[in-house]
Amino acid sequence: MERAFEEIANRFDRFLGRLHRQNNTQRGLIVLDKSSYGTSLQGLATNFRSVGHRWGQLFNLTDVPLFVDSRATRLIQYADMVAYALRRYYENGQSEYFDLISRRFDAQGGVVHGLAHLVRPENACHCQACRQRVRN
Ligand SMILES: [Zn+2]
Repeated sequence: MERAFEEIANRFDRFLGRLHRQNNTQRGLIVLDKSSYGTSLQGLATNFRSVGHRWGQLFNLTDVPLFVDSRATRLIQYADMVAYALRRYYENGQSEYFDLISRRFDAQGGVVHGLAHLVRPENACHCQACRQRVRN
């Protein structure tokens, strides 16, 4: 869970950094569903901002993550739908919903930055994210 959060926070920060270099400066806010991971992720994000993470430091996030009740905001429900589509794709090999969103992940110059699949090198995977990583 912490590795996934680190990936998401870093990729979101880099996305905002690219916008900044295109003269579209914005600050980001990570909103998460209340969960048992709340306390540990909030501490992790605070450390990211002050001491950095494995790839550097976060510069474009305005605050520590906010934890909200998913029933209170549609944003979390949208994120749940994306997670559902990804889970069906990666765990069950069903691409019906993934195909609807696969071109919506952050990308620039044909390189997808907003989707990563973390697998051990010995476990060959032919998903969209892994195929692209092999090419680059
Ligand atoms: Zn993969």
